[in-house]
Amino acid sequence: MGAPITVSHVLSVDDWMTGSAAAIKAEADHLTQLDSAIGDGDHGINMTRGMRAVTAALADVDDVTAPGKRLILAGKTLVSTVGGASGPLWGTALRRGGRALGDAEALDGAALVTALEAALAGVQELGAAEPGDKTMVDALGPAVATLRERLDAGDALGDALEAAADAADEGARATTPMQARKGRASYLGERSVGHQDPGATSTALIVRALGHALVTPG
Ligand code: ADP
Ligand code: MG
Repeated sequence: MGAPITVSHVLSVDDWMTGSAAAIKAEADHLTQLDSAIGDGDHGINMTRGMRAVTAALADVDDVTAPGKRLILAGKTLVSTVGGASGPLWGTALRRGGRALGDAEALDGAALVTALEAALAGVQELGAAEPGDKTMVDALGPAVATLRERLDAGDALGDALEAAADAADEGARATTPMQARKGRASYLGERSVGHQDPGATSTALIVRALGHALVTPG
């Protein structure tokens, strides 16, 4: 049974990151397999190591409570612990999302949309990937657009997050027939076709983890 819709929910950055870390660790072998097909086979290892460092960094810092500040810490940690493309890209996403939140005390649905739109813009500025280039943008983009649409339409945050996660999954699956135009997979040219993008796949896991990070304030 879902939570009563009269209760307004907010998200916990720490729960989001802990849930993302667990989901990525559980799927690490799969992510590595996907990256072995069209990259260098380190994506599962990169993201697992990075997310483990993020949860450790957050656990260390308990005197900073603003969600924006905690997202910035998470992002900085990813940038400094992951050597592959995904570290700087997701690190930038989280830092930019955190900055967009400013000093807001709670991460509610509207704040989350603001943060995720800034995160997506940060990824695209850094990596210059457009939709259809077979990257994490193909999962994050539809997720952010769906979240905004569903919240604007008046959906409860939990329902909107589920729709966003479904859109991210679908976006990740849709990368399979694409030819990579950015990142290491682009070196393969047409041989990148027929494989699901690892970064889009891990991104869908991170988006799905948002739905498990809902808390009731008060
Ligand atoms: P590396 O390619 O350096 O080994 P990872 O294997 O950790 O790094 O991550 C690969 C993923 O990064 C790809 O599957 C893709 O989703 C994402 N990626 C690579 N380059 C870009 C880019 N320019 N913009 C967006 N995402 C990118
Ligand atoms: Mg790789």
